[in-house]
Amino acid sequence: MHQWLPQEIVEALEAAWTSEEKGSAFTEQIAAVAQTEVTEALLAECERAGYLTRRHDNQWRLTALGRQTAEEIIRRHRLAERLVVDVLRMTLEESEADACEFEHLVAPGVTEAICTLLGHPRFCPHQHPIPPGACCQRAETQAPSLVATADRLDIGQTARIAYLSAANFPRLQKLSALGLAPGAVIKALQKYPSFVIQCDETQIALEREIAREIYVFTNACD
Ligand SMILES: [Zn+2]
Ligand SMILES: [Zn+2]
Repeated sequence: MHQWLPQEIVEALEAAWTSEEKGSAFTEQIAAVAQTEVTEALLAECERAGYLTRRHDNQWRLTALGRQTAEEIIRRHRLAERLVVDVLRMTLEESEADACEFEHLVAPGVTEAICTLLGHPRFCPHQHPIPPGACCQRAETQAPSLVATADRLDIGQTARIAYLSAANFPRLQKLSALGLAPGAVIKALQKYPSFVIQCDETQIALEREIAREIYVFTNACD
């Protein structure tokens, strides 16, 4: 669906989505976050294609179709960022991909496979939410994931932390202060009633919700 949209429309839709995410869809904000120039002509083109609509106060908003299309693009963009950082082990800058071109790294047909491989991540490396796909709702566990959340570890299993995806920055700092940082090896000691892990010589009890914010590599580590 809409796999080969012109790049400027893709960027206008990404910009419209991002500005809605920030709480407004006004034309100036769409222009402010867009990588390329968002002209009236481009907005009108998006309107003709059924992606944007101009409200009575002259501000642009995404239509249902526009929102659905933008969501798919944003999802691929943010999954691609995770792919670069977690699998290719590069910073986003090192990858030399243009900020507006990350979505090209994940083809529409393999989005679910990549999402599953990455363990259905909920946030991109910028901590922006990744719109969930059908695979995330199914919480697919049969397909092999490269990365999974720590609460999936079996008792006695060790794994290296791939990344943290805490809901907020203070929590991220708290986890880091406990030594739970990318690269650290953790071992699951207990799953009920609380989730207890060992990291270095320290035993740490975590709420399940927090264990789900720690993503670990599922390949064996020694
Ligand atoms: Zn991002
Ligand atoms: Zn998923």
